Amino acid sequence: MSKVKFYSGEDIPLELHKVRVVQKLHLVPIERRLNAIEEAGFNTFRLNTKDVYLDMLTDSGTNAMSDNQVAAMFQADDAYAGSQSFYKYQQAVEDVLEKKYLLPVHQGRAAENVISRTFIKPGNIIPMNYHFTTALAHILEVGGKIAELLHDDALILQSTNPFKGNIDIDKLVKCIEENGVENISFIRMEASTNLIGGQPFSMANLMDVRQIADKYGIMLILDASLIGENAYLIKEREQAWKENSLGDIIKAMTDLADLVYFSARKLSSSRGGGICINRKELYYKMEALIPLYEGFLTYGGISVREIEAIAVGLRETLDETMISQSPKFIEHLVTELDKKGIPVVTPPGVLGAHVDAGSFCQHIPQTEYPAGALAAAYYLISGVRGMERGTISSVRDENGVEILANIELLRLALPRRVFTLSQVKYVLDRLTWLYDNRELIGGLRFTYEPPVLRFFMGGLEPTSNWPARLVEKFKKDFGDSL
Ligand SMILES: *Cc1c(COP(=O)(O)O)cnc(C)c1O
Repeated sequence: MSKVKFYSGEDIPLELHKVRVVQKLHLVPIERRLNAIEEAGFNTFRLNTKDVYLDMLTDSGTNAMSDNQVAAMFQADDAYAGSQSFYKYQQAVEDVLEKKYLLPVHQGRAAENVISRTFIKPGNIIPMNYHFTTALAHILEVGGKIAELLHDDALILQSTNPFKGNIDIDKLVKCIEENGVENISFIRMEASTNLIGGQPFSMANLMDVRQIADKYGIMLILDASLIGENAYLIKEREQAWKENSLGDIIKAMTDLADLVYFSARKLSSSRGGGICINRKELYYKMEALIPLYEGFLTYGGISVREIEAIAVGLRETLDETMISQSPKFIEHLVTELDKKGIPVVTPPGVLGAHVDAGSFCQHIPQTEYPAGALAAAYYLISGVRGMERGTISSVRDENGVEILANIELLRLALPRRVFTLSQVKYVLDRLTWLYDNRELIGGLRFTYEPPVLRFFMGGLEPTSNWPARLVEKFKKDFGDSL
């Protein structure tokens, strides 16, 4: 694999692309940031990007496109039915993911809607390595339940386990035996388990899961939204696959699954998604839902320009130089945070750095949302927008009792190829300052709590006057610096 070593001995990632279109950013003064976070109900989702310096909320739809993707968008074929752009997309799916049939959907959760409605009956159990918010919401919506079957040590935040996204095979067998095969809709494997810090699974584990699926006759579904980076980390961390190309690894992964779906917002473009299968009878089961919820079968709610970009982007997931950029930057950010003693999920995964808000804000009870508070505080003192991945992103049970999240994380996503190394240094610098002043951060409580996916639009307020105290300390230490 291509590695660039520095004469100085420094271990830093080198950008293997150049910037050709730029967008001006706004680093507004801390007084404005205080007003902005108050107006946003202390929920970073509700900030306007004119108040945001580095947007590290998500890697969804925010990655930099390649010149080839942008060029392809100009060739898009506008047609309601039979657009040539769709056939390019279908061909890319066949070549890269080795699935013959493609149902286009407007984004990943739309695939989850179609899959859940088709395959889940009320009371069914869906075993999986770990849930993703929208996957869970759609499963609950049709009356299903999930069983999360990670190894016990996967939730140990600081670890050297290279594959924390693996399913525990003993737990999987037990889950199937206890619930009965007839009550299992399918097994769901998520590449690079998003919510536990973008942690990959190994090929060996996926093969074991396949064996169990075969033994019991259960369908295996792969959420491939983050498959490129999972494949890259398999190559880096799993001895048996060191000599294989990314293409070989991706194909080996998708071949093991009966159905592959993905959000193209992460995988290859800025919009769109797809459901990919080889078995025609599975295709027919879902087909009717596409015109109902998405659009005609050759666009599925995606603009033809985006479809062109997805087709090119899928092929680019085979390019190791392109794919390796994001994991290398993340590795750098995580390693530097770790060196400074700031609690962060290790080993480095994909998507971004995941700060352990539970130990960063040990003094804030979990019922006052330490990860949400840390996200708001970090925005306030830096203009960097991260995302809460903790109890606010969780749900209440049937009785309205809060389900406290297993882990409280502040996620700082690194959209692919968007930020430079000096911006990463700024992220580190301000987080280090906040860590040194962490006792100034206080808790949050809801003022407006939507019943579904509350983390998106929920409103909160601080439980004390802690934001003002942080601003005061910031000004004392930084003077007139932004
Ligand atoms: C983002 C994501 C989804 C949902 O995709 P959207 O395009 O945002 O609807 C599903 N699964 C995983 C693993 C994701 O990261």
